Amino acid sequence: MKVIREFLPYFDERPHGAKVRALVLHCSAHSAADMIEVLRERELSSHYIIDTDGKVLQLVSEKKRAWHAGQSKWRGMKMLNQYSVGIELSSPTLGQQKYADLQIKSLIKLSRQIINHYQIPAVNVVAHSDIAPTRKPDPGLAFPWQYLASKGIGLWYDANDAAKVATNDVEELLRIIGYEVNDLAAASYAFCRHFVPQSVATDNDVNHLIDNVFPPDFVLPKAYLPVLQACAYKYSRLL
Ligand SMILES: [Zn+2]
Repeated sequence: MKVIREFLPYFDERPHGAKVRALVLHCSAHSAADMIEVLRERELSSHYIIDTDGKVLQLVSEKKRAWHAGQSKWRGMKMLNQYSVGIELSSPTLGQQKYADLQIKSLIKLSRQIINHYQIPAVNVVAHSDIAPTRKPDPGLAFPWQYLASKGIGLWYDANDAAKVATNDVEELLRIIGYEVNDLAAASYAFCRHFVPQSVATDNDVNHLIDNVFPPDFVLPKAYLPVLQACAYKYSRLL
């Protein structure tokens, strides 16, 4: 696939022995061109940006550690920049309205290459909101996780699996999937963004959303407990 290289100097070496084993997906409300300017201002980066028209830009070599995830945890990994490749998608609504088809097409191609190259486990294809649930809402409730899973990128649940899970402890189930559960409201909401997007409210003010990532008193609605159980089953089967 055609990749435009526009390298940024904001990266460093991956720590010795740190192998790539996660793919972190993001979105930003800026166009690709504006995103590059913002990254320059903040001295941040990601490995790739995909614009709304499907154009793919590479900013950092996959061999290097790009600075996209910040403080983050997932399935025992901390600070995921060291273990991951990061992809940013341009999305004017910050992932609250449907992503462009061409953009998702490019994302599928690029993700498949990365996943195959590093043999990234499906359980480690994650949202920025999954690994930093108190801080980040991206890539948002409109991100097509189920469709991507049907294309071999990440995991989706099978509702029939809920009955195979004995526990109904939300904290334990979230932990099984991989979430950091210190803030249970944040982790529960991040789970909903990924797997139960119909339960997540849209916020028309993107700046407000950035500062108010989750309702602090959020409790997973009982109706969605079976989804959580089915997900935990899927993720626990594929360590
Ligand atoms: Zn992000």
